[in-house]
Amino acid sequence: MHRARKRFGQNFLQDEGIIYSIVALINPSADMQVIEIGPGLGALTRPLLRNLDQLDLLEIDRDLVAYWNQQNLPGLTVIEGDALQFDFLEWAQNKANKKGLRKVVGNLPYNISSPLLFHLVAAAKLIDEQVFMLQAEVVERMVANAGSSDFSRLSVMLQARYDMELVLEVPPEAFDPKPKVNSAVVRMIPRQDFNLSDAQWSSLEKVVAAAFAQRRKMLRTNLQAFSERLKLTELELKARAQDISVERYIEWAKVLAS
Ligand code: SAM
Repeated sequence: MHRARKRFGQNFLQDEGIIYSIVALINPSADMQVIEIGPGLGALTRPLLRNLDQLDLLEIDRDLVAYWNQQNLPGLTVIEGDALQFDFLEWAQNKANKKGLRKVVGNLPYNISSPLLFHLVAAAKLIDEQVFMLQAEVVERMVANAGSSDFSRLSVMLQARYDMELVLEVPPEAFDPKPKVNSAVVRMIPRQDFNLSDAQWSSLEKVVAAAFAQRRKMLRTNLQAFSERLKLTELELKARAQDISVERYIEWAKVLAS
């Protein structure tokens, strides 16, 4: 009997209807290449494995790693490790010569969700899709439109790299133990039209961090260091970070990196 560990964000999904919906969304098929972050006790793992020839698991909790190794299930590869340190690009490169879509999925530990989402960007060019359960508030920020109060650094950076959709809201009662917050499932598909170089991406990180450094201040103040090169319009100088579209931030990043 496994006791849920708070420090690893362990809330185990119990609701069969929700499990079914998430697995249907992942849409596993025999030749698909899937890595699941944080399998826990297997709410998603077992139904996924029924439809996949192989599945990789990445789990930080040694007891759960031992549990999965004991199961000895055909097609399962268990990796003990911290998702924040794991090289997802290398994982995807190793799968690149196999046919089938490459997907990263999981009911993520909420305490590391933002850094993990940023960490995964490094592998986006070789990933076809990510399906994650996260804290609802984080998903709302991820998909927020410019102009909304949820529109933040996370929205701009992730929308610059992925098309994203909130697909399912999940109440605390679906888990044991129950988390204190609502949850939601997000689908993330790397953008087909993504064309930023590494230098442009790092300019995007810088300009977005500066713009949102003081949310209430106008860009005249927050982007002072960049204003000469960016040639902001009068309207933009008076705007706040949350009013600027993702595509405009991308244009600025390209100017700064040129
Ligand atoms: N997938 C299971 C479910 O839906 O019931 C468990 C989900 S639970 C919210 C999060 C899982 O991620 C746990 O199994 C936990 O041990 C694991 N985990 C926590 N931090 C991790 C990390 N840094 N790297 C990999 N796995 C982690």
